[in-house]
Amino acid sequence: MLALNSVSLRSKLFFAIYTPCLILSIIASFAFTLSRFDTIDRNFKEGVEKSVSQMTVSAEHALSHSDKGMLNDILRTLLKHDHINTVQLYNAEEKLITELGKTSEVNTLPFTNANESDENPHFFATIAPIKHPVTRLEHQSNTNFITSSYSVPQVSGWLKVEASKEASIVSKYRYLSATLGTFFIFNLLAIFALLNVTSSLLRPIEKISDTVNKITQGHFGATKGLNLPTQYSTVVSDLNDISSRLENHRAEILSNVDQATEDIRRNMDSLEEKSAQLHIANKEATESNRLKSQFLANISHEIRTPLNAIMGYIQILQKDQLDKQQRLYMDTIAQSTTNLLTIISDILDFSKIEAGKLSLDLTDINIRDIVDEVYQILSSANLVNASKELDLIPEFDLDVPTWVIGDPVRIRQVLTNLIGNAIKFTHEGSVRTKVKILEKSNSSLKLSFQIIDTGVGIPENKLDNLFKPFSQVDTSTTRKFGGTGLGLVITKKLVKQMGGNVEVSSEHGIGSNFRFTIVLKPSQKEQKVEEPISKSLLVFEPSLNYRNYLKTYLNHVGANCTFTSSLEQTVTLLNSQTSLDAVLLNIDSHTEKLEEIQELVAYITQQFRLPCILLTKRPHDISKSSILHTLCSEILMTPISHNRLNKSLRSLEEPKLLSEDRLYADETTTPELTTELELEAVEPPEETSPLSGIQILAVDDTQINLQLLGHWLEPHGLQVDLAYSGKQAIEMAKETQYDLILMDIQMPEMDGMEATQRLRKLTNYVHTPIVALTAHALGSEQKQIVSSGMNAYLTKPVNEDILLETITQWCQSKKSYQDLADEKVLALFDIDKALSIANGKSVIAKDMFDMLLNTLEADKKLILHHFEEKDLAKLIHVVHRLHGGSKYTGAIELSKHAGFLETHLKELQFDDVEGVLEDFTDSIDALIDIAPLIKWPQE
Ligand code: ADP
Repeated sequence: MLALNSVSLRSKLFFAIYTPCLILSIIASFAFTLSRFDTIDRNFKEGVEKSVSQMTVSAEHALSHSDKGMLNDILRTLLKHDHINTVQLYNAEEKLITELGKTSEVNTLPFTNANESDENPHFFATIAPIKHPVTRLEHQSNTNFITSSYSVPQVSGWLKVEASKEASIVSKYRYLSATLGTFFIFNLLAIFALLNVTSSLLRPIEKISDTVNKITQGHFGATKGLNLPTQYSTVVSDLNDISSRLENHRAEILSNVDQATEDIRRNMDSLEEKSAQLHIANKEATESNRLKSQFLANISHEIRTPLNAIMGYIQILQKDQLDKQQRLYMDTIAQSTTNLLTIISDILDFSKIEAGKLSLDLTDINIRDIVDEVYQILSSANLVNASKELDLIPEFDLDVPTWVIGDPVRIRQVLTNLIGNAIKFTHEGSVRTKVKILEKSNSSLKLSFQIIDTGVGIPENKLDNLFKPFSQVDTSTTRKFGGTGLGLVITKKLVKQMGGNVEVSSEHGIGSNFRFTIVLKPSQKEQKVEEPISKSLLVFEPSLNYRNYLKTYLNHVGANCTFTSSLEQTVTLLNSQTSLDAVLLNIDSHTEKLEEIQELVAYITQQFRLPCILLTKRPHDISKSSILHTLCSEILMTPISHNRLNKSLRSLEEPKLLSEDRLYADETTTPELTTELELEAVEPPEETSPLSGIQILAVDDTQINLQLLGHWLEPHGLQVDLAYSGKQAIEMAKETQYDLILMDIQMPEMDGMEATQRLRKLTNYVHTPIVALTAHALGSEQKQIVSSGMNAYLTKPVNEDILLETITQWCQSKKSYQDLADEKVLALFDIDKALSIANGKSVIAKDMFDMLLNTLEADKKLILHHFEEKDLAKLIHVVHRLHGGSKYTGAIELSKHAGFLETHLKELQFDDVEGVLEDFTDSIDALIDIAPLIKWPQE
């Protein structure tokens, strides 16, 4: 099949027609030859037989007359005949009488009454009887026998002739060669004719195929020279049609390819640009990383050193004689400095862990004491204030050993962060820390800590981000608590370093459960087996949580306790129980009055002579009451430290007996520093101060900031009123007409922007200058500040001079911030031009402007990069693009400077280009700056 496929069409067609011709000619030649051979044979035999038959009549006569001469003549006559080689004459007795010619070759012929013949490939032999008619002889003598005797002739001898077939064979050959000749001539003619026919049949097809080939090679004009017979006219027109379509199609493809090539070229350009941008970004990232490491390496020294000095001097100053106001300042400075130190430590820890430089310092630690200490520190660190009703409960499983080997600093840090967060985000209920053993072996001890709070909880969708650096669940400007967002990240890394992991589960509004495990080593330090405290105690504890907690602990140390939850019950039990050794009173400092507490303690100690231990939350007047200190065996602050409670119970003091006078003398308590700000009368204002008499409302949720504002402004004759929240500011503004308001942005419940919007709705505050005090003056925030109705903003930390300058500016100039902003925008941006290019469509104009704006930063970097690399072509390319972009977006100043730079680069290349380039980059910065201030018309 494959072979057939490779045969050309011409050959196939030729053989298709020729093969039947050939077969027919062979059959015809064969048939003719056979029939002719047969005729030759027959004629040959008939000739011989006829000659013999004729001679038998003459021979009969010669025989009957025994005429030998005649016989010989007859025989010679026969011999003269073509082909006859041998002639024999036999008598009636079948004896050879005469023989002429060659010796006979055939002796098989029988002597019969009829002619007989035989042959082999070379000879033909025939024998004929020589009969003489007897009747004729009889007739001569007896006429009656004539008839009968006439029908029975007598054989008087036989004439046998042998003829050679040579001549007939020769004539057969001759005929055969003639036939073959004819056959070949016929076939030659047929082949010739067929070749002509096939080529005349195939020529158009070949031409068509050739044309199609040319078309496929792209020679679409090939159909024009195609001359074919008329019957092919449709094919020709179809080919013309296909060819012209292909030509059009190719033109289309070519133009598409051109377009695609152009696109690719452009993409390559932009890729090149992008790669240059990436290169720049990479360089910047590496550089900033290096700077970060360098900065962090120095930060400890650079920040801690002055902070240490500050802390030191604060401590010295705190010991000095200070008035109330000065003490308040000192305490707040001390508090702020401690906070700052914590933040710096957090950042340093974070970077140390990041760099893998944090190593653990293992030593023997009392794990219970650490948890207690953390609770103690946190509860005294202003986290638990008067408004919080929190039970802070550490719960240890009894099998948790007191001493283990671990890093006390890092464990304390983890606990401080988790328990600190729990206290921070819980307003009522409890913060419990459950500690238990997970795994224990001779060489290691796996402890599990659970910090369970009943606080605000964390929404499920925020849980994943908790352990990411700088993440806060509440990112709003109204969030209540500050923080770096690094605490949990550091915690996680520390815990990991201590062989454990942190998990959290939380329900929004219900509370959170932070769990972590750490692997510690068992300590060889002797676990002190303490004597049981075999004392009978009456414990007044109103909180169920604390009751359970105390019950477990006191039972564990061997004390026998009776618990009461109300004072009445306590008094009743005091009267009914006889075998008491001591009384423990947990006094809620906010529900019980000091006098009542004193009375109760006096009752217990004086009446029943029982030692009394007071437990109370800090801060409370109890701690300042000297009478209580005298009466009580111990005053302990909650959260209770196991250690201290243990010690107090073991060293119970017999109560002192006091006289009535002493007991009910007026107790002078040293009041604790109030958290409310009490500003004392400040120095009288300078008469000459231009700001004298201006009334300012300062709004901030941080006392220190407010304090500072008052401290700065009042000496200049300004009257400063302070508001701690947006709500309070509105209330105060309704009462008093202020000349200027200083407004913090980030405040709990109502932020500065919302407060401003509400103030603007008050008829007498429509035009009052409101100056924002903000921590981050980001572009987006500036815009929000302006749109909320504020006139200006100052970035924290605010400098005293700038603050006074701003107040002077706003209180004396009547230009609004928006006016100033509008002026600034006008100088750089032509909104009418931008709109006219976009056919007045503000949305389109803004989109086009934003597109330009979004590329500005990257383009600026790219331009500086090309400038550094001294790549003129690329530099011109980017500047040219920006020039074009700025023309169509109304960025007039940028467009002007881009034009200058482009011309300069083209004419003078890099000669003295620095100044022009600087103007150009400045105009980019300026445009980015004013972009948020542009007032696009609403459609
Ligand atoms: P920070 O040091 O600023 O407190 P953290 O990493 O410790 O940062 O905490 C990140 C955020 O996780 C907090 O701002 C708070 O929103 C949330 N968070 C942490 N602990 C609790 C908790 N116990 N209850 C509610 N929210 C919490």
